[in-house]
Amino acid sequence: MTRPHIAVLGSINMDLVAYVAKAPQRGETVTGREFRTLPGGKGANQAVAAARAGATVSMIGAVGTDAFGDRLRSALDHSGVDTDLLRTVEGPSGTAHIVVDDDGGNAIVVIPGANAALTAVDAGDEAAIASAGALLLQLEIPLEGVLAAARSARASGVRTILTPAPAQPLPPELLAATDLLIPNEHEAAALTGLADPADAARALLDQVPEVVVTLGAAGSLYAARGADPVRVPARRVTAVDTTGAGDTFVGALAVALGEGNSLPEALSWASAASALSVRRPGAAASMPYRKEIDAEAG
Ligand code: ADP
Repeated sequence: MTRPHIAVLGSINMDLVAYVAKAPQRGETVTGREFRTLPGGKGANQAVAAARAGATVSMIGAVGTDAFGDRLRSALDHSGVDTDLLRTVEGPSGTAHIVVDDDGGNAIVVIPGANAALTAVDAGDEAAIASAGALLLQLEIPLEGVLAAARSARASGVRTILTPAPAQPLPPELLAATDLLIPNEHEAAALTGLADPADAARALLDQVPEVVVTLGAAGSLYAARGADPVRVPARRVTAVDTTGAGDTFVGALAVALGEGNSLPEALSWASAASALSVRRPGAAASMPYRKEIDAEAG
């Protein structure tokens, strides 16, 4: 089988994580237990997930001229992601400042840094998108950049898969250029005002032809025009860290679709991939490789 080719346009961040017993209140200083720097950002995470799941991945993104920039680029290289289209932008890389408490709760501040420069696509990006089987998009970079890439994919007949995170109102033109929308249940509710994921999915079908709502440990729900929504169960596992579960799911799903599987088959394979990732700590660090996913999917 030839490897599917997937293009990803999105954010690349260094996650700066402080682990504390209890998060500080305003004005308070607390001593934490541990600090880690972990490569992240939804774009980079989806790229790593897809590469490990077996695709050739072209990452379109930006890192800064700080030391994080080099580390972020080499982390992508190391996972087998093609970084030829990464820009290096004068100034800091994107960072996410994360406080994780002992209950597993977190509070996060994201500083876009170099990601803010991704307002357009150039000829090289367009060539990569045109030669890919799918384009993965999320919303941690400027909407103009997301829209430009979606337009480019549509013009080349390339399937666009959009993760609408962080939740925000979406321009109708972006939805019109999206083939598959993958919100989690919170994003689906924010986009539609409907708490029930099946109702939200049906409402979203007015704007996009296919929707998958991810439901954490409850699995996912797939909806297409003219058919009743179908639930796909999650695997029963003991979750250690669910960070990046959604990005693992999307990356693996894109690979399975790129290999010609039907959406229900691809969803089952993606839930095996994300179940593996929640059993291990970290976001990108926990993402499974092809062999592990095939073994888990059975
Ligand atoms: P996000 O990380 O974007 O919020 P979800 O939490 O909905 O996404 O998770 C995405 C997918 O990961 C789910 O559809 C499910 O297949 C899998 N998953 C997430 N949490 C668990 C869990 N606790 N046990 C098993 N699978 C999980």
